[in-house]
Amino acid sequence: MPGFELFGDQERKEVNDVLDNGVLMRYGFDGLRNGHWKAKSLEKELCSTFNTNHVQLVSSGTAAVSVALASAGVGAGDEVIMPTFTFVASFEAIMMLGAIPVLVDIDDTLTLDPKAVEAAVTPKTKAVMVVHMCGSMGDLNALQTVCSKHKLLLVEDACQAIGGTYKGKPLGSVGDLGCFSFDFVKTITCGEGGAVITNNETYYVNADHYSDHGHDHVGSDRGAETHPFLGYNFRISELHAAVGLAQVKRLPEFITIQKKHYTILRKALADIPEVSFRKVPEGGEESYAFLNFFLPDLDTARKVTTAFKEHGIDACWNYFDNNWHYVRKWDHLKDAKSLYPLTSEINAALSKLKTTGFSQSDAFIGRNISCLIKLSWTDAEVSERASKMAEAIKSVI
Ligand SMILES: *Cc1c(COP(=O)(O)O)cnc(C)c1O
Repeated sequence: MPGFELFGDQERKEVNDVLDNGVLMRYGFDGLRNGHWKAKSLEKELCSTFNTNHVQLVSSGTAAVSVALASAGVGAGDEVIMPTFTFVASFEAIMMLGAIPVLVDIDDTLTLDPKAVEAAVTPKTKAVMVVHMCGSMGDLNALQTVCSKHKLLLVEDACQAIGGTYKGKPLGSVGDLGCFSFDFVKTITCGEGGAVITNNETYYVNADHYSDHGHDHVGSDRGAETHPFLGYNFRISELHAAVGLAQVKRLPEFITIQKKHYTILRKALADIPEVSFRKVPEGGEESYAFLNFFLPDLDTARKVTTAFKEHGIDACWNYFDNNWHYVRKWDHLKDAKSLYPLTSEINAALSKLKTTGFSQSDAFIGRNISCLIKLSWTDAEVSERASKMAEAIKSVI
């Protein structure tokens, strides 16, 4: 997945443009910048990459999720449905707004189970956040049906599936708002950065103002701009945007490489009867950032993870005991370990989480192994890896 593996001359050139004129900020200083608007150029480029009307760059993927929700009016006391398997950023972004994270089970897509979503809807539900984990997507058709029925926003977190598509549309562009991260380990990187995409002009204008202290960005005198509403600072810098501008142009190349490596590894595992693959919804095309497969049970998955290590296979994980990506070990969340007081509604939701079991999620995550697909492998390395992975699995079953 990581674009940093192929960081080179194009990235250096874009960054040097910024260093040469010295304007490191994305807004203002029109006279000094010699026509260099890296953040604006990257936004324009991403509009075409993601086939969307509007893109607002921000400082991180976590900020993107929070800005997306805020821009659509989600706030204190609103419930946002999110999956048990995701990155900690999902609940952070929700709770930052005083909104309440409502965790629900995943299915064999490794993303939200639409039936579990429907069952979790209450009069307080405002949004459904689907997280397209590990290079593939949720069942967007089914989720859209639930959202339209209950008049909920559909927000897509496509941070881990940049370049994947659903029925020909880029992931992130199907729901009301889409969120991306360009942190250092994502398919394309800015070092740190993120983006909100939407076809809704109001949400876009809100995101533009909200991520820059509520500035209206009217006219060319930043000091004279007014603040139609409150905001914060989630700006990206020109230096970060410059890196992204070089990387985004290489996205098709990165996806092609990922697909090639993924296909070789998948073929090597496909004829092992005990191995099955993660479900990709009909009409979906993965970004090939990860290869995900299921083994018969947790015990086998743990043994295979160990056998992979013994066979020198890195970057493959069983997430059952992982404390970044799966609800089981999110103790700091369940124990509400906050530096500052949380609202009573959030506290109540978190204490309920402590006693809620997610046996359906446990069954899928327990049996799953996710392997990162790297861009920098040589053909020989991929082939060797494929046969070693098959050998390691067969040594266990
Ligand atoms: C990386 C990631 C984020 C957060 O992105 P940052 O840029 O690191 O804040 C959010 N959601 C998912 C699914 C991610 O993988």
